Amino acid sequence: MKEFLEETVHSSKYWVMEGHIASYIPRLATANKKHVGIGVYTVDNQYHSAGDTNIKFSIQSVCKVFSLICALKDSGLEKLLMKVDVEPSGDRFNSLVKLETMQNHRPLNPFINAGAIATIGMIRARNAEERFNKVLQILRDMTNNDNLTYNQEVYESEKETGDTNKAIAYYLKGAGILEENVDDILDTYFKICSMEAGIEDMARAAAVIANDGSIPWNGNQLISKEDTKIVRAIMATSGLYDGSGEFSVKVGIPAKSGVGGCIIGAAPNKMGIATFGPSLNEKGNSIAGIRMFQSLSKEYQLSVF
Ligand code: GLU
Repeated sequence: MKEFLEETVHSSKYWVMEGHIASYIPRLATANKKHVGIGVYTVDNQYHSAGDTNIKFSIQSVCKVFSLICALKDSGLEKLLMKVDVEPSGDRFNSLVKLETMQNHRPLNPFINAGAIATIGMIRARNAEERFNKVLQILRDMTNNDNLTYNQEVYESEKETGDTNKAIAYYLKGAGILEENVDDILDTYFKICSMEAGIEDMARAAAVIANDGSIPWNGNQLISKEDTKIVRAIMATSGLYDGSGEFSVKVGIPAKSGVGGCIIGAAPNKMGIATFGPSLNEKGNSIAGIRMFQSLSKEYQLSVF
């Protein structure tokens, strides 16, 4: 497999100069377009990687997988569905447009910004710190890495530039979707977007999702099988913003991307995959990441469809 991964990293590099780097905050804008890496963590506990695998990156929207897992654990699907739907949006990740027109004002799914903010409101906690720590802890448990945390500089920039997210959160509060303190929820949202990790960390987290919530390296059932199935289903339908349909057709692996350049994917009962490549296409998805997922899916027949 190592050889195949080296080859796929090499061929995906050909396309990266075409894209753009997320530049809405200074720290993300310093990423190198040419960096490309991939890690695969199998459910039978083996790890293979290739390319630029030692870089720590901002996980950005990939964090929405972890907030969803926490909300499902704390509130369960039925309660969550009262606040957020599970339908693909077809709009940009930070769109506000359907909030007013949808019945009950529920955001369309937990992976667009509005949906993630509503989902964070369903994580039970006494304050913002406890809520953030729950998400960080699930990330640490799923990666076997207690050193992971958020980047202070990214967090402060997220907060400073996050006017659209603030508008979304206040709208949700006005519509009765958010019941908690808006600033507390936003604080958790900005912090979890700023969490940093590496390729192996994210491949491990994806492997837990691929392995029905059971941790490949110690056999503990961290997330229930049912919840993991829900997470994979939402990843398959809404994981790549308004590029989710094409990704399902061409790759067919439940996945979640972030504008930091990471994509995680969970091939059920087979492997967790993490790719990194900060050069993004017009929909905000990693160009090299999509290419690598495509070739891996084809080579190992990973499409769930
Ligand atoms: N922090 C970003 C935002 O809320 C997340 C962007 C993303 O990765 O989709 O705008």
